[in-house]
Amino acid sequence: MDKLHDARQAEPVVSIIGGGLAGCEAAWQAAAFGCRVILHEMKPERYSPAHHSSSLAELVCSNSLRSDAPDSAVGLLKDEMRALGSLVIRVAERHRVPAGKALAVDRELFAAFITETINQHPRITVVHHEVGELPSDCGLDPANPLILATGPLTTDALTNALGAITGQEYLAFYDAIAPIIATDSLDRTIIYQASRYDDGPGDYLNCPFDREQYQAFIEALGQATSVPLKPFEEPKYFEGCLPIEVMLARGPETLRFGPMKPVGLPDPRTGRDPFAVVQLRKENVAGDQVNMVGFQTKLTYSEQKRVFAMIPGLERAEFTRLGSIHRNTFVCAPKVLTPFLQIKGRPGLLLAGQITGVEGYVESTAMGILAGRNAACLALGLPLSTPSPETAHGALLGHLTQSEAKHFQPSNVNFGLFPAFASKLPKRQRGQYRAQKALAALAQWQTSPTGRPLD
Ligand SMILES: Cc1cc2nc3c(=O)[nH]c(=O)nc-3n(C[C@H](O)[C@H](O)[C@H](O)COP(=O)(O)OP(=O)(O)OC[C@H]3O[C@@H](n4cnc5c(N)ncnc54)[C@H](O)[C@@H]3O)c2cc1C
Repeated sequence: MDKLHDARQAEPVVSIIGGGLAGCEAAWQAAAFGCRVILHEMKPERYSPAHHSSSLAELVCSNSLRSDAPDSAVGLLKDEMRALGSLVIRVAERHRVPAGKALAVDRELFAAFITETINQHPRITVVHHEVGELPSDCGLDPANPLILATGPLTTDALTNALGAITGQEYLAFYDAIAPIIATDSLDRTIIYQASRYDDGPGDYLNCPFDREQYQAFIEALGQATSVPLKPFEEPKYFEGCLPIEVMLARGPETLRFGPMKPVGLPDPRTGRDPFAVVQLRKENVAGDQVNMVGFQTKLTYSEQKRVFAMIPGLERAEFTRLGSIHRNTFVCAPKVLTPFLQIKGRPGLLLAGQITGVEGYVESTAMGILAGRNAACLALGLPLSTPSPETAHGALLGHLTQSEAKHFQPSNVNFGLFPAFASKLPKRQRGQYRAQKALAALAQWQTSPTGRPLD
């Protein structure tokens, strides 16, 4: 408590609730601007249903931060984050595991390194306790900013406190997570190593299906029992993270065109693409665990064991974690947020991370960068500015603040959120063109106080 008392004595101060990806990034950015930061995190006193480690910046499901290709939307977002001095991306690169063109990490080393960096930062004080209320004058004073970065599984008490302040309804819905398997329980006489369209050894393990095996699998999956939702819970999922059984309900071929897509993955035993595949990706550096790529599910545990044993090569699979479903909370951003991630009418109360209405580890972290910088500028009395809509950060802000409120849904970053092209461009040149324009616009923004490069 002495350290906390000392921190409060020194101005300017930025307070943050939630030490996940967004909260840690916001703390890092605000501290780099010269602010003192008080970071409130409820672990290890209390854990959400998806958090299990006492570390900060815990990755609750996949260990992948998705594509690193500079001409993809999420690759561009990461490039911008690198330019903005992101702690999370720097540590992810330090603890990456092989995953083809994706940036995947050893989740334990990743979280441990971020925890140590934050704990040892001379301007950051971490306080471990659950925050259950927000004072009635919370956020009225912009010089005393507070960032709420409590994520999709924000505790009920705090969600209610936020709802009372915003005066807006918040939505609750469900996300599903994919199982993890012990690598030594895989049947390697069936499963083969390959990355899609890659000549090298490949970073993925592939479980090949023929037509009959696929048919039997989807029949079993279609009849399997899921965990029931409570009567008041409306089942809404992110399109990018749909449970496999929800995808299957859209048609028998949906999985073959989604996570079970076989193209570019010839089976070395036949030289041909199989009819369908399930892909497995390293979960940790040691490689003794793999996750089922895109296989998030809300089947009951016993049904997962029964149905997934029908996947060729997984007949004796030992699951170290089974898939499950979880609540996800976010605000109706177009109604609630300013372009600086402040709650309207409460200039000193900002949101960061998934609760803003973005979706995904990388997007949540990016909103931590912006919230941390904005809060620091408020505390320091500096003017605020936003990155151009041509940047991936600006495109996400545009989604949050300019979408139609009535139909607002969380989104991953994608080029559909960017301004339309002034003239036609061949498809294969578009990503590169977007990236060039975005990085130039970001460099321009970096000449402003909010966008300035970190020391
Ligand atoms: C089950 C699930 C699976 C997901 N899987 C993926 C995935 O595979 N890939 C992907 O890109 N995205 C995934 N997401 C979406 C999302 O990107 C991640 O949840 C991401 O971690 C969000 O970052 P965040 O910083 O906003 O929240 P979090 O990382 O959840 O951090 C919030 C922190 O706030 C703390 N906290 C909460 N309430 C309080 C309180 N009252 N007081 C103090 N501290 C509090 C929590 O303990 C936590 O440490 C998933 C989400 C869920 C719910």
